[in-house]
Amino acid sequence: MATDYDAPRRQEDESDSLDALKQSIPSKPKTTADDENDTSEYALADGPDLSDAELDVVVLPPQENEFTCVECFLVKHRTQFDHESSLGPVCKDCAA
Ligand SMILES: [Zn+2]
Repeated sequence: MATDYDAPRRQEDESDSLDALKQSIPSKPKTTADDENDTSEYALADGPDLSDAELDVVVLPPQENEFTCVECFLVKHRTQFDHESSLGPVCKDCAA
């Protein structure tokens, strides 16, 4: 009968120790996670600067005297315009 008594007791002990482990395990990496958060915050702080630089490069709307070739997808000057295809303007480089 002693074994019967021990069986449920072990399960309780196991679950108790598991809970203790679950509680103790996340608390340990939490300090490292906080450290990582610090670095990621630094990265986020650097983010806006990078996006600003990217915006300066990306925002290049074609001017009135420019067109975007449908063949090479480059913004060309109107003087480089060769003909209008069914898809759109084609530059002289692509038409040649
Ligand atoms: Zn082209």
